[in-house]
Amino acid sequence: MSGVNRRILVTGGAGFIGSHLCERLVRSGEDVLCVDNYFTGTRANIAALIGDPRFEAMRHDVTFPLYVEVDRIFNMACPASPVHYQHDPVQTTKTSVHGAINMLGLAKRTRARILQASTSEVYGDPREHPQAEPYWGHVNPIGPRACYDEGKRCAETLFFDYHRQHRLEIKVARIFNTYGPRMHPNDGRVVSNFVVQALRGDPITVYGDGTQTRSFCYVDDLVDGLLKLMDSPGDETGPVNLGNPVEFTMLQLAELVLTLTGSSSRIVKAPLPADDPKQRRPDITRATKLLDWKPTTPLEEGLKPTIAYFRLALGLGPARSIHAPRAAAGTP
Ligand code: NAD
Ligand code: UDP
Ligand code: UDP
Repeated sequence: MSGVNRRILVTGGAGFIGSHLCERLVRSGEDVLCVDNYFTGTRANIAALIGDPRFEAMRHDVTFPLYVEVDRIFNMACPASPVHYQHDPVQTTKTSVHGAINMLGLAKRTRARILQASTSEVYGDPREHPQAEPYWGHVNPIGPRACYDEGKRCAETLFFDYHRQHRLEIKVARIFNTYGPRMHPNDGRVVSNFVVQALRGDPITVYGDGTQTRSFCYVDDLVDGLLKLMDSPGDETGPVNLGNPVEFTMLQLAELVLTLTGSSSRIVKAPLPADDPKQRRPDITRATKLLDWKPTTPLEEGLKPTIAYFRLALGLGPARSIHAPRAAAGTP
């Protein structure tokens, strides 16, 4: 994206993905307003941007109205890890639904183009594999994941209704599991858990029998996809899957993390959480055709800077065997 004097709002901009997005936007010359209530995001994530004249951070909860003047909105605000979004499930639904209404109201008043960070969770525990955008999903509406899944599904509904009813320019990205530096060490997601456990020499907790699958996208690749989607022609609404189509079992991930960290941690089995999807892999045909986008970072390569980041975050110092992180800003 190469714009001059364009004002870009990033909600959830102090979070894991949001902070990488803010950084890329500022670097490409955009004026960025980062709005965050710091529920799961941190000021450390955006520390490198504070003081840059093109960057402004505002503490604000998107469930309340927001009156600012902007040209584009990336709506990223929402806790994303199951541990965090289940901590206060009512607030999670409010963030997705009230947050979407407020940001869409803002887009309607300012005529801003608006992108929604939706999720592969809209497919639930899928009965079709891999998941392509026309699939309607298989979601338990009353289970522990519903606050997130149904909140995000309702947000998609609102986006498409504002598009049809108010002619808003919308973009819906269905993001699949993304990882990289600045993930929260305690967020309970599988990549951060395994890396932190391996680095500390603690047991690696594989839930269930470890044969469930996920497909992991490195954050730099994902941000490329978000920027391309935002820049796509005005009539292109999505939804568009953004993720890495290479699929791993959780046992394979555990082994890879052990190898790359050189850890002697052992693997232990723990109970599988309720409604945990058995398999997940994006069909990215649409993204490839529309956006000329596909991820370029293999899991092994993306894990190296991620491990280096967690080493520093845990105060373990750099390891000789691990490459320097690609994104060092915000390293605590
Ligand atoms: P994250 O938890 O690091 O970031 C979310 C950010 O939103 C945090 O900074 C948090 O403080 C902020 N936030 C939460 N509630 C808010 C509220 N009410 N008002 C203002 N700010 C609020 O998570 P992430 O991984 O960076 O995810 C970013 C977005 O991408 C989320 O919308 C998430 O649902 C979506 N997503 C992420 C993944 C992934 O694998 N990381 C996958 C699918 C979708
Ligand atoms: N809104 C906002 N900022 C704006 C404009 C609207 O936060 O600049 C909020 C406002 O709280 C409103 C919501 O967005 O409730 C939806 O706005 P819309 O105009 O669609 O609905 P209405 O105001 O008619 O209820
Ligand atoms: N998982 C695991 N051990 C952990 C954390 C997660 O085996 O310490 C599993 C979890 O059961 C799921 C997968 O890893 O099958 C991905 O979990 P995560 O919370 O990262 O994201 P999800 O894709 O389920 O939202």
